[in-house]
Amino acid sequence: MTTNDENTQVSVLGLGAMGAALAAALLRAGHPTTVWNRSPGKADDLVAQGARAAATAGDAVRAAPVVIACLLDHASVHEVLDPLTADLAGRTLINVTTTTPAEARELAAWAAEAGIAYLDGGIMAVPNMIGRPGSSILYSGSAEVFERHRPLLDLWGTSTYYGEDAGLASLYDLALLSGMYVMFAGFMHGAAMVAPAGVSARDFAAMAAPWLTAMTGSFAGFAEVIDGGDYTVPGQQSLEFSNPGYLLAASSEQGIGTDAIDMVQRLIQRQIDAGHGKEGFSRIIESIKHPA
Ligand code: NDP
Repeated sequence: MTTNDENTQVSVLGLGAMGAALAAALLRAGHPTTVWNRSPGKADDLVAQGARAAATAGDAVRAAPVVIACLLDHASVHEVLDPLTADLAGRTLINVTTTTPAEARELAAWAAEAGIAYLDGGIMAVPNMIGRPGSSILYSGSAEVFERHRPLLDLWGTSTYYGEDAGLASLYDLALLSGMYVMFAGFMHGAAMVAPAGVSARDFAAMAAPWLTAMTGSFAGFAEVIDGGDYTVPGQQSLEFSNPGYLLAASSEQGIGTDAIDMVQRLIQRQIDAGHGKEGFSRIIESIKHPA
C-alpha cells in the first residue's frame, strides 16, 4: 500500500549538506519534519522553513514513524542508533548514509532483529540536485517500505528499487561511482597533458565533455561482448591496437606523471601476456575480475 500523504511525519537524523537538502525537500512538500544533528546550529535554516528541531536523536526518533538517517558512515549510524533500538522498534528506518554492501546487509539484519522496517538508499546526486531533474536514488531492502513511502522518496529524485537484498543499492551506487572516479582521473590526466601547451583546464573541459559523452556509446557494445563471453567477436578494437604506448610516451614528453594511464596499460598488458592480444578491448574486464 502506498502512503500518498504529505501528512506523514518524518524525522531526519544528520543535517550535513545532504541531510539538510533531504529535509528541505520534505518541508517543501508539506511533511511535518523533525530534524536532529549532533552539533548545534545546523537545524536553524530548516526550522525557519518549518521544521521542528529535536534536542536528541531519541527525541527525533520518537517524533515520527519514519526516520531518515543521513550520517557520515556506517560507524556513525550505529553510534547514533544502537542506543535507540527500543524506540525504533515498530518504526521505519530509511538509511541513505553511504555504506558498503556488507555494511548495508549488516544494518538490515540489525534492524530485523530489533523489529525495525529497513530500507537502504544510495544517493546518485549532490545536495543541490535533490528534488531536481537528474537526481536519482537507488533503494534495496524492504519492498513494503519502498512501496508504502514511494511518494515521499520521489520528492528527492527518481526512485528505483533493486530488491530485498539490502546491499544492492550500495553495490550499484559504488559500482557507478567507480566508473565516475576513473573517468574523472582520465579527464584530469588529459588536462595535465595539455597544460604545458598553454591550454586551460576550462578549454580542455569543453573539448573533453562531448568526446567522453560520445564514447559512452561504446558501453553497450562492450557489454554485449562481455555478456556473450566471446572476446574474439570480429569488428572489435583489439587489445594490441589499444595498447596505450603512445599515451605514455606523449605524457612523458609533456613531463607529467603516467599513473592514470599506467593503470589501463597494466590491465591490457596482462591479457596480451596471456596470449589474448588479438581479442577485443573489453577483455580487460578479465584482468579486473581476476587480480594478479
Ligand atoms: P557532511 O560531512 O556534510 O555531514 C555529515 C553528517 O554526519 C553531519 O550531520 C555530521 O554531524 C554527521 N555525523 C558524522 N559523524 C557522526 C557521529 N559519529 N554521530 C552523529 N553524527 C555524525 O556529509 P553529507 O551530508 O554530504 O553526506 C551525508 C551522507 O550522504 C554520507 O554518507 C555521504 O556519503 C552521502 N552522500 C553525500 C553526497 C554529497 O554529494 N554530499 C552524495 C551522495 C551521498 P556534525 O554536523 O555534528 O559533524
